[in-house]
Parts: sequence; structure tokens; C-alpha cells
Amino acid sequence: MRTQYDVVIIGAGINGVAIAKELAAVGKTVLVLEKNRIAYGASSHSSRLIHGGLRYLEHFEFALVREALRDQKYLLETYTDLVKLCSFYLPIYQNSKRPIWMIRFGLWLYSFFAKHGQKASAVSIKDFTKEFKYIKEDNLKAVFRYFDAKTDDYALTNKIAQQAKDNKVEIVEETEIKTLFLDNNIIRLTTDKGVVETNLLINAAGAWIDEINTKFNLPSSYTIEKLSGIHIVIDKVLVPNPLILETTSKRVFFIIPQADTTLIGTTERSEESKIDDIKINNEDIEYLLKESNRYLKTELKRKDIKDVYIGVRPLIKSQKDPTRMSREYKLDLHYIGQNKILHVYGGKLTTFPSLAKKAVEMLTKNG
Ligand SMILES: Cc1cc2nc3c(=O)[nH]c(=O)nc-3n(C[C@H](O)[C@H](O)[C@H](O)COP(=O)(O)OP(=O)(O)OC[C@H]3O[C@@H](n4cnc5c(N)ncnc54)[C@H](O)[C@@H]3O)c2cc1C
Repeated sequence: MRTQYDVVIIGAGINGVAIAKELAAVGKTVLVLEKNRIAYGASSHSSRLIHGGLRYLEHFEFALVREALRDQKYLLETYTDLVKLCSFYLPIYQNSKRPIWMIRFGLWLYSFFAKHGQKASAVSIKDFTKEFKYIKEDNLKAVFRYFDAKTDDYALTNKIAQQAKDNKVEIVEETEIKTLFLDNNIIRLTTDKGVVETNLLINAAGAWIDEINTKFNLPSSYTIEKLSGIHIVIDKVLVPNPLILETTSKRVFFIIPQADTTLIGTTERSEESKIDDIKINNEDIEYLLKESNRYLKTELKRKDIKDVYIGVRPLIKSQKDPTRMSREYKLDLHYIGQNKILHVYGGKLTTFPSLAKKAVEMLTKNG
């Protein structure tokens, strides 16, 4: 670790390492300080989808969906070994809360925005039930197929981190920031690995962002709502392709095949505790089992669960119900004398390319 860098970034999640990679590519010296390990946070605890988010269309978040689908195309073309396009199935039952015309329209729009050229279509119930042997066929009204992408979030984040390192970015893991001094001329951070100075600090600490802002008294325009989500991993393959299903309360959740297991998720719970104290809630496990069992021929039990993991989304606080808050990101730039502080709020795994590009444009605009 040197003593001075053009840029110091807090957090080696997907956004921190992606911004680091892009800034190094335009000639900046960059240090990333990570309290834990690369991809320790949400970037290895997601649903592992590289998607526009079909359900966001329902909330008229067209700009978010379009941007994410542009990023999806870029990621499909660039990281061919890690990001794979596949068919997703959407079965509609008699008691589905969304009418068929709405699903049809949503899928048409989603395919229209998508850049991979694959169109959504209806699938015969007979063909569907032949392939999806564990899924109930009673009261099935229609089935649709559309295309989205899957990834390995941990591997993808580590890949971008490696590319950043190849661009000469230094990533120091397991580092605690002890103090942060800020005046009009310099930002000085004392860590357990040494002291570093910079004029540009980027806070890409994901759901930890507010805790850092409070601890070091940094100026910021937003605060976050912490929304945890769990996934359960079932020790066998229940579906040949990802399924998108509706819960009793009209939320959606996924059943996704993952090697020789199945991933089911996710949940949405507003959290008040500090991030490091957030724990998996038993009720959320029961909820996912109950909702899945509405669709499965053979009942899933606790003993079928091989693993459970939790991630925390940092959503920008608003008056809305947290489950309906936007997944859009905000880049919040502050000037203090010669210094700049940029906070990265919210976002999705999928949108890291456009987020990093916008951050670099914003920071390099005025030199
Ligand atoms: C349940 C769930 C499912 C999701 N599913 C999807 C999906 O399928 N597709 C999708 O596109 N998006 C998904 N997302 C969103 C996506 O995971 C996140 O938007 C993305 O990973 C955020 O990355 P990040 O780099 O901003 O934050 P994080 O990955 O959380 O990284 C922040 C990093 O900062 C570090 N840090 C914290 N405090 C400090 C400190 N004081 N000093 C140094 N380092 C610090 C942490 O250790 C961590 O490594 C999901 C999120 C959740 C929670």
C-alpha cells in the first residue's frame, strides 16, 4: 500500500471493483479498502440473475428495466463463461392475481426492451408438465416462456476484481478504517495497514453506507432502508429451468436450478439492526417453504434444505412500502475544497457496468 492515491474506494463489492477498474483504465491510481473479503456483501448473496427485472415493469420503472437489459446484453457478450442466457418459465394458475393479458403485455414489452433477440412465447401445458415433473398441473391456465440470464455473482465480482488488479488497482482485504480526517485540502484515512491520502473518496460499501457516513461524519444526500432477502438451497434439482412464481401476497419469487441443487428466493424484510447483526429469520425460511409447496407435487421439508443465505439490499429511503422501493441507483457527489466524495446508493448486480461508467464520467468531467 502506498501513501497517496488519486482515488480511494471503500468496499470491494461489484460496484466498488467495477468503478476501480474503470478509473484505473483512464489512468488513475486506485486503492480499494475492503473490511472483509472481495464480494463479501450482497454481491455474493443475490438471486444470481442478470436481468432487467420483469416485475419492475408493473411499477412503470421502464428506464431501470431498459438500462438493466442493455447491461445484460453487454455482460452476455463480454463474460460469456459467467453470464448465460436461459429460458425462464412463468406458469399461470386459476387463482393467479395477475390477468393473462397483463402477463402477455409485460412479456411483450420485456422482449421488446431486451437486446438478445429471443422473444417470449406461450408454451403448451402438456409440454411444460412433461419437463417440470415436480410442478403441480391442477388449475394451470397457461404457461409462458421468456429469456433472461443467470450468473455466479461471487465469480463475476471476483472476475471484475481481477480485471481491476490487472489495471494496477490495489485491493486490500480485511482492512479496518480506524479514522478519516477531512479538510479542504486532503482526505486522510488511517487503517490497520497504514495511512493513505487522497482527494477523491468513493463510498461503495453497499448496505453499510450509512454506518460509514455516520461514523466519519461524511456529507450525504440520502439515507437507506435495509431490506434483507434470504434464499434456501434445496439438495436436489426440482426444475430444469428457472420458474417465476407468484406468492399469496402477489410478490414474485424464483425457483432456479443451480448445478445439482435448487435455489429458492427471495424474501423482503425491513431491518433495523446494524448490518453485521442481521440474522436469518426462521419465519422467512418457513415462508419460502410454504410458498414453494403451493406449487410442488411433493412437499418440501426443512430437512431438504442444504443451505440458507441472506443478503441486504440498500434501498434509498422513501415514503413507499420498502418492497416497492426502486432498485435504481443514485450517485451522490459532494465537493469539499479540493476533495470529492462520491456515495454509491442502491443498484443491482446487473447494472454495475452502467453505474461504473456513469461514475467515471461524473468524476472525470472536470478533471
Ligand atoms: C437477496 C438479494 C437478491 C438480489 N438479487 C439480485 C439479482 O438476482 N440480480 C441483480 O442484478 N441484483 C440482485 N441483487 C442486488 C445486488 O446483489 C446488489 O445490488 C449488488 O451486489 C450491490 O453491490 P455493492 O458493491 O454496491 O455492495 P456489496 O456487494 O454489499 O459490497 C459492499 C462491500 O463493502 C464492504 N464494506 C462495508 N463496510 C466497510 C468498511 N467500513 N470498510 C471497508 N469495506 C467495507 C463490505 O464488506 C462489502 O464487501 C440482490 C440483492 C439481494 C440482497
